Amino acid sequence: MDLFEHQGKEFFAQYGMPVSPGEATFTVDEAVAAAERLGTPVMVKAQVHAGGRGKAGGVKFAPDIDAVREHASNIFGLDIKGHIVKRIWIEKASDIAEEYYASFTLDRSAKKHLGMLSKEGGVEIETVAEENPDAIAKIWVDPVDGLSEAACREWVAAANLPDAATEGCVDILQKLYTAYTEGDADLVEINPLILTPEGVVHVLDAKVTLDGNSEFRHPDYAQYDATQPRDEREQAAHSKGLQYVGLEGSVGVIANGAGLAMSTVDVVNQVGGSPANFLDIGGGANADVMAGALEVINNDPAVKSIFINIFGGITRGEEVANGILEAMRRVEIDSPIVIRLDGTNADEGRAILVPNLNDKLMMEETMLDAARKAVELAEGA
Ligand code: GDP
Ligand code: MG
Repeated sequence: MDLFEHQGKEFFAQYGMPVSPGEATFTVDEAVAAAERLGTPVMVKAQVHAGGRGKAGGVKFAPDIDAVREHASNIFGLDIKGHIVKRIWIEKASDIAEEYYASFTLDRSAKKHLGMLSKEGGVEIETVAEENPDAIAKIWVDPVDGLSEAACREWVAAANLPDAATEGCVDILQKLYTAYTEGDADLVEINPLILTPEGVVHVLDAKVTLDGNSEFRHPDYAQYDATQPRDEREQAAHSKGLQYVGLEGSVGVIANGAGLAMSTVDVVNQVGGSPANFLDIGGGANADVMAGALEVINNDPAVKSIFINIFGGITRGEEVANGILEAMRRVEIDSPIVIRLDGTNADEGRAILVPNLNDKLMMEETMLDAARKAVELAEGA
């Protein structure tokens, strides 16, 4: 779950990190009013789930109110890497002496948290990693031990920051680690973390990805969930609790288990078709879940055929077959369906489906044949 920059800063502020005051706005007039309250100069900052906003013209310095109006007018509606700007953060502008980079994320192979700190901030860290890897000081933190002040100090020293920045960085990085672990984040990134001419270390940008599965521990994360950008199809699927990602093609995909759903998307591509979506209905395949899934897919006008790919594990084949038939009684489906059913009690399940097969409901023995059939139907449509 990605946060907008301003949400990330509010999240950081809860852990005592220094961020600038600002306001989220949705119209040019709101942006101007916010700037009047904050007092110029301010930064006018596009809020989208993408980095590199500055380069794309989405981050502008406004010395006065006229400039706020001009920049906000230009930035609302701007397309930044496919994200249209609908919200702008107006923030009190800071003076910058130096720009640094700091982040924590999980290093799965090391089974540790990885902290990265660089005195070359304000640019993409991938570029620094490529052109000047020595400029990145790394620390691996055992999640059981946590980050001690001494280890944090050593890490900051390794980054060769000026003395003026040391204390501020040690303080902020410890808080960043706490935010990352206690806040159940997958990624926390500050780029740039700045040193002001007055010698104060300050957070100027925030990129935060929270673990959506931790929402039960953090009821306030519902506010972030509510602002996730989703297209209409994804919104409908999300409200039904389905794991759905909208894609561009014409073959609707329903599978049980994320791995099988991904393989299904792959096999549709492999036989020359293109999937309209990824949809994992999870372990079970009862009529309620199947009906919800079929409804979401049926409402997608791009869908020309539907490929249901089920491998019964704990779920038995006859339950799946009955679930599909019951779902089809509840939802009127426009596109032909191709089923591949395998796994536990597959024979029993197929026996239930066979008398119901027709030119709207077909079955194939293998995943590959079913994919071919679904693609052929989509292309013939
Ligand atoms: P990004 O391009 O999406 O990473 O957006 P940032 O929030 O990092 O802003 C891009 C750049 O704008 C930063 O690297 C800074 O150089 C500059 N910037 C952001 N906020 C301020 C500010 O308050 N004052 C000044 N002078 N520059 C800023
Ligand atoms: Mg940045």
